[in-house]
Amino acid sequence: MATAVVRSMASAITDRGRKRPSNEDAFGYSDEDGVYLVCDGMGGAAAGEIASSLAVDEVLRLTEEAGHEVDGAAFPDLLERAIAAANEAIYTRSQRNHRLTGMGTTMVALGVRESHAWVMNIGDSRCYRLRNGRLEQITADHSLVEEQVRVGRMTRAEALRSPLKNVITRALGTQSRVTPDVFALEIEPGDTFLLCTDGLTRELTDTAIESMLCSNSSLAEQCTSLVEAAKKAGGHDNVTCLLVRAAG
Ligand code: CA
Repeated sequence: MATAVVRSMASAITDRGRKRPSNEDAFGYSDEDGVYLVCDGMGGAAAGEIASSLAVDEVLRLTEEAGHEVDGAAFPDLLERAIAAANEAIYTRSQRNHRLTGMGTTMVALGVRESHAWVMNIGDSRCYRLRNGRLEQITADHSLVEEQVRVGRMTRAEALRSPLKNVITRALGTQSRVTPDVFALEIEPGDTFLLCTDGLTRELTDTAIESMLCSNSSLAEQCTSLVEAAKKAGGHDNVTCLLVRAAG
């Protein structure tokens, strides 16, 4: 059976929010290479910003360099290798400069080839898919509280209030090696993917996000609505959202 080529288009916004002095989130994408990335950096001084932007730049650079030579079947391996290389770049830099020691970042990556998609994540930045008006979370957070919720030791409401809610159990760049979770998906025309940081998902419920993504406005307008709603709800953290729609 012939594979339909699904064209995708994207829009993204990152915002400092209302409480933080700087923005440690970063995003980047290439419609041409079918690569979409959102990162949430951590570390003292400017280290978080360095880690998140380094991660985005490395993955985009490596997938662009190799992208056109790689067919669909090899594409997820390419994306995973690019993420591993980004991990190494951040880790090496933090080892060389004591002011950057311990810096790291989350990453949620979406790779699209024809009608196939791969979602890879490290940390608590998320990917959701909206299909036929229903929002579904694709990724599972690598966070202490999420792990407690999964084994039934904590409710979701307790997790949101927990003083440990910021503790993530996997990060890019804090160790010499890291393994992302990988989700392979088939894309249907009209599917919309949301990549976002916890600055969005801690302020807005999935139901609120779903209803905003079901509006008839453009992707850019939907990004603005999501970020403005997160800021209105408190804007306690940096907030980033990236929307990708498969146009068919
Ligand atoms: Ca954050």
